[in-house]
Amino acid sequence: MSHSDFSIEFYPPKTAEGAEKLRVTRVRLAALNPKYFSVTFGAGGSTQQGTLDTVLEIRREGHQAAPHISCLGSSRDRLRAALDEYRSNGIRRLVALRGDLPSGYGAVDFSSGEFRYANELVEFIRAESGDWFHIEVAAYPEMHPQAKSPLDDVQSFARKVQAGADGAITQYFYNADAYFRFVDEARKLGVQVPIAAGVMPITNTMQLLRFSEMCGAEIPRWVRLKLLSYGDDIESIRAFGLDVVTALCERLLAGGAPGLHFYSLNQAAPTMAICQRLKLQG
Ligand code: FAD
Repeated sequence: MSHSDFSIEFYPPKTAEGAEKLRVTRVRLAALNPKYFSVTFGAGGSTQQGTLDTVLEIRREGHQAAPHISCLGSSRDRLRAALDEYRSNGIRRLVALRGDLPSGYGAVDFSSGEFRYANELVEFIRAESGDWFHIEVAAYPEMHPQAKSPLDDVQSFARKVQAGADGAITQYFYNADAYFRFVDEARKLGVQVPIAAGVMPITNTMQLLRFSEMCGAEIPRWVRLKLLSYGDDIESIRAFGLDVVTALCERLLAGGAPGLHFYSLNQAAPTMAICQRLKLQG
């Protein structure tokens, strides 16, 4: 493996203290030489400034950075302004998503608004800025929770790629077979772009179970039972999680995954431990 094969995701910090912690995290993770760092975008565009500020800071530190950009609840004018801002700052890579509306919006009619799905956002970015941006989109080996069926979901994924995406990053999962199957099905639909596997380090049982419930990632029963059996014993949770996730990554890479994308949750140690075991540092 070389440094070009993995990326690391952050979320924009909400406080000055969080920003300082993230700087320290970044210095440690930058030593691994990832291909780029990506920075998420809050539901309904609630952290656009935070995303931009964090991305610019990463670039000033000399690293590649990719802002996430989402379209649900946004407008053509707002997205055009965001794209212009990124272009004028020399940003060349985006992670393009539909996004989710912030909680508290009540029942949402996804058919209203200027954008309904991520393929429309990808089309818009290409129409506005040609080939300026390298665009990554999301993929769901275990199916997006709102999809009508697995087939429908992989077809929607293929539509985003046809709209002009250069690559994809998956939702995290702990079942390598789901990933390999999804990649095979996408290839059969003509998708040729690299599909990097999203990797969530395991550090906190309750947080993991809560996230996974929301985003539709399955925690295998034996993994869940083991994690729950450790209670508050953080060291055992982390040691077991490191074994499980490293084995998953080894299998993914051996099976041809073109890259890994780590959901760092702004912590350095869990991602570093996995990369070190995999000898991923550049
Ligand atoms: P889409 O690809 O539009 O799919 C959404 C749903 O609609 C799916 O069920 C799909 O099957 C269906 N669908 C798609 N197109 C059609 C169509 N034409 N007709 C009918 N059905 C269709 N969220 C954030 O708010 N901020 C972030 O920064 C962020 N980063 C993420 C990064 C990664 C790598 C991933 C995997 C997810 C991220 N998310 C983020 C979460 C993401 O926004 C949600 O999962 C969202 O619900 C779907 O976004 P999408 O881009 O995959 O949507």
